[in-house]
Amino acid sequence: MKIAIYPGSFDPITYGHLDILKNAAGIFDKVIIAVAHNGEKRGFLSTQERVRLIKESVKGMPNVKVDSFEGLTIEYAKKIGANVLIRGLRAVSDFEYEMQLSQTNSALCDEIKTVFLTTKPEYNFISSSTIKEILQNGGDISKFVPEPVFKFLTGKKNAV
Ligand code: ADP
Repeated sequence: MKIAIYPGSFDPITYGHLDILKNAAGIFDKVIIAVAHNGEKRGFLSTQERVRLIKESVKGMPNVKVDSFEGLTIEYAKKIGANVLIRGLRAVSDFEYEMQLSQTNSALCDEIKTVFLTTKPEYNFISSSTIKEILQNGGDISKFVPEPVFKFLTGKKNAV
């Protein structure tokens, strides 16, 4: 059984993340999308909010589970018995950081391999930080995020 984890901030999850996840779910037996909880850095959304929005966005994907973790990704991957770490690549600018990350993780645990996936071209440019900027400046984010995220974020903004 090939178990993959897809770790990240997902602050919030976007159509880009979702496309990577769908591709991974088609390749591996089970995919765990895991929100990295950083106690020192309060993100835009709380870890619980991110997990809930991911759960609502992956309904209908039976081999996908949602979780969160603290600490080193590779330790979490070992703990849950994952064989593969999924990361997404957008542009060449992602490459250097992702390469360094994957080589560091290999040095820590060579049994868990990083697999890089890309999205369809129409989702390639989407990033959580751009979405936050569009939202804060009153733009329309409906094309970039799954419906539960759109509803939650527009509700949150109107409540401020
Ligand atoms: P992190 O803080 O760990 O980079 P992110 O939530 O920003 O977390 O991204 C998680 C992973 O998804 C990263 O590997 C990132 O490169 C990838 N990713 C995010 N958006 C896209 C996209 N639009 N296309 C391809 N990969 C993406």
